[in-house]
Amino acid sequence: MKFHSFLIKYGEIGIKGKNRYMFEDALVRQIRYALRTVDGEFLVHKCHGRVYVDCEGEYDYEEAVESLKKVFGIVGICPVVRVEVKDPELLKKDVVSYVEQVYPDRNKTFKVEARRANKRYPQNSMELNCSLGEAVLEAFPEMKVDVHNPDIRLNVEIREEVYIYSEIIPGPGGMPVGTNGSAMLLLSGGIDSPVAGYMVAKRGVEIEAVYFHAPPYTSERAKEKVVDLARLVSAYAGPIKLHVVNFTDIQLYIYEKCPHEELTIIMRRYMMRIAEHFAKKDGCLGLITGESIGQVASQTMQSLAATNAVCTLPVYRPLIGFDKREIVEISEKIDTYEVSIQPYEDCCTIFVAKHPVTKPDVSRIEKSEQKLTEQIDELMEKAIETTEVIYVKYGE
Ligand code: ATP
Ligand code: MG
Repeated sequence: MKFHSFLIKYGEIGIKGKNRYMFEDALVRQIRYALRTVDGEFLVHKCHGRVYVDCEGEYDYEEAVESLKKVFGIVGICPVVRVEVKDPELLKKDVVSYVEQVYPDRNKTFKVEARRANKRYPQNSMELNCSLGEAVLEAFPEMKVDVHNPDIRLNVEIREEVYIYSEIIPGPGGMPVGTNGSAMLLLSGGIDSPVAGYMVAKRGVEIEAVYFHAPPYTSERAKEKVVDLARLVSAYAGPIKLHVVNFTDIQLYIYEKCPHEELTIIMRRYMMRIAEHFAKKDGCLGLITGESIGQVASQTMQSLAATNAVCTLPVYRPLIGFDKREIVEISEKIDTYEVSIQPYEDCCTIFVAKHPVTKPDVSRIEKSEQKLTEQIDELMEKAIETTEVIYVKYGE
């Protein structure tokens, strides 16, 4: 069956009162963006409080649906057959042919839900429900009407054209990206941080990212892996500005001066400081990490407090209460898992101590950091100055 349009269902954003237009416009923009790499020509527009994608001519249906499934704010995607407005008798044929083609197995219950937006049409909604329902029953005696809980809700809307649809393909939910400011994601090559970025983007937040790279201890390939992960997240979150910070000198300096069991915490605190610098520079309203309570020594409540202490922006940790298994499940769903498990070294594991502190005391950590006063400002400045910025876009 050839579908000519998609009716886009959106839940949460429908109830936002005056903000509704802003949300709808963001949704339209994100849909256009998602479809830009799909074969075909698409006209995305708002009409009578609805959002439609009209597909002009030939297009790649599967690819279009796959792209729409990644647009936050969409709750359901309904493929629509459009036919011209015609006589009730002739319209029956169109509806019957729709059912025939879309449902090869017709041992199903159904209900016609007609809507007459074009009041000049000779039958009203009730009459349409009856006459079209009868036509379907006549053509397919194996089908039954169930007005309360039908398998198929056959929508027939009389507008400037007739829209016929019944299937709803689930969308990702959430809110359209661009409706809730932006935040800076600390993106490593692991499983967790891409999922954390996905979850915050899902609430309408634009994402920037920062990756701490430590050449030659971490390879070019490890960096490529992070770029690949950013690209996968950007399929949902839109374009991502990725900062690649050369962290080697800072790490070596900490390694030289500070107690080794505190290395990870101190390193983390410098990561947060640098991430916050870039966040503030670009007007981001928060930081995002993939931390979850107790997952490793650096994520105990005490460690999180010590890391948090250096930040003035809010730090969002959307995975805070998730078990690894639950995080893996999401990473599989969003397709980042396979890339995340590629075995490339991580800057944190290279300098990791055998027995890291699990209950760091902030004042002790601050004391250890005083051993860095001589050079750390200069090293931070250099790291910031030499940061490479990569613009990452899915499909490009
Ligand atoms: P992930 O799977 O996200 O790497 P993890 O379980 O390996 O997480 P850690 O290595 O303790 O946990 O990192 C905790 C968080 O710190 C990460 O989720 C990420 O947000 C941030 N982070 C760690 N290493 C880096 C890095 N090299 N660059 C940017 N952010 C990092
Ligand atoms: Mg990691």
